[in-house]
Amino acid sequence: MRYSGFKIIAQALTGHRGWKPVWREPEPKRSYDIVVIGGGGHGLATAYYLAKEFGEANVAVVEKGWIGSGNVGRNTTIVRSNYLLPGNEPFYEFSMKLWEGLEQDFNYNAMVSQRGVLNLCHTDAQRDAFTRRGNAMRLHGVDAVLLDREGVRRIAPFLNFDNARFPIKGGLLQPRGGTVRHDAVAWGYARGADTHGVDIIQNCEVTGFRIENGKCLGVETTRGFIGAKKVGCAVAGASSQVMAKAGMRLPIESHVLQAFVSEGLKPLLPGVITYGAGHFYVSQSDKGGLVFGGDIDGYNSYAQRGNLPVIEDVCEGGMSLMPMIGRARLLRSWGGIMDMSMDGSPIIDRTDIEGLYFNGGWCYGGFKATPASGWCFAHLLATDMPHPNAAAYRFDRFRKGLMIDEKGMGAQPNLH
Ligand SMILES: Cc1cc2nc3c(=O)[nH]c(=O)nc-3n(C[C@H](O)[C@H](O)[C@H](O)COP(=O)(O)OP(=O)(O)OC[C@H]3O[C@@H](n4cnc5c(N)ncnc54)[C@H](O)[C@@H]3O)c2cc1C
Repeated sequence: MRYSGFKIIAQALTGHRGWKPVWREPEPKRSYDIVVIGGGGHGLATAYYLAKEFGEANVAVVEKGWIGSGNVGRNTTIVRSNYLLPGNEPFYEFSMKLWEGLEQDFNYNAMVSQRGVLNLCHTDAQRDAFTRRGNAMRLHGVDAVLLDREGVRRIAPFLNFDNARFPIKGGLLQPRGGTVRHDAVAWGYARGADTHGVDIIQNCEVTGFRIENGKCLGVETTRGFIGAKKVGCAVAGASSQVMAKAGMRLPIESHVLQAFVSEGLKPLLPGVITYGAGHFYVSQSDKGGLVFGGDIDGYNSYAQRGNLPVIEDVCEGGMSLMPMIGRARLLRSWGGIMDMSMDGSPIIDRTDIEGLYFNGGWCYGGFKATPASGWCFAHLLATDMPHPNAAAYRFDRFRKGLMIDEKGMGAQPNLH
């Protein structure tokens, strides 16, 4: 069923009795050409582009829980392409362009809202770094505007400008950045993939790989063996656990990241604002809640919930940036598992096992990457060649010393 304004009016006039389930609930077949593990944003986008762009109709996505139960339904919904390094910038800009056409492409309202992403700077050195990043973005044809203090004040007069310890000196604005409703991204890709013939199999956990003579023949699951000519793994925070079942040890650690939402308030925030003197970022949902977050919890974990010290740290960041946030009541907080790579950049690559491919290491920036990640992983799975925009995201960059260390933090995954 194609969605449109006309369809909504027609359904309203007939008591909404004509809506169909958004995707099927098929039983797994004995085998597929391609099995994608993980029904998060990346796995679903991969399946969608495999079917739509590469003509691969015999595809399944196997998900251990339900669609959207992982990070795709837990993130703070921020999308942007304000990267510095050549390995990253073209990829994230490719993603931004896909976001811009996504709703028309998969015929689903994902509430793509390009309300701007503003990174604040609080020292001269930070302003220099932002100037460099803004220039790098513009050299790649990406929008970037450097604002002085008065420029920031015009956009967000309510910020704490004269905090003696962390004065706001200016900011780097990407006007095309913004937010996208995360659940709708999962549902839209699931619906689109299903429409193109992909089987989405929920409640089906991959428990192992069948590997013979260095070749992957399929996956063992809680619903039996599913054969596949090719298997793509896109399980984000569970990457190390799942790939260990194929005997691989990844350059990835898992950490928890928490997020928070306040009670609904009248429109207040013009866009996404990030605090440069601490780690705090905030936007306002269309329902009115302030959606915010900060650092990861500083220990390895596979639990989808975090701990109190980070809550305190995030609230301190919020209070020092915009003290009025102390008047808002916190509604909910939650956590997701981050696949933190050693240099802070992702991996989209083949493995040494024939027929087994990997997508992961998204750290806490993988939501914005969803469309490009899906497209590039589909390209790799379908053609066995890396997509040009993801060519740097290889496993062997760690061996060859070709790290893409966007933050300049070195091999400390908890800092990326
Ligand atoms: C609190 C928080 C805030 C964030 N904020 C942002 C943000 O503002 N902007 C941004 O760009 N990124 C953000 N991120 C990061 C982003 O959400 C992730 O990088 C991205 O969603 C990961 O890709 P995914 O959607 O495919 O992951 P997931 O949705 O986690 O998908 C992986 C799926 O694999 C499934 N799975 C795991 N093991 C198995 C198995 N054995 N068998 C079958 N299935 C399995 C899981 O159940 C899960 O559904 C945030 C993350 C969190 C938690």
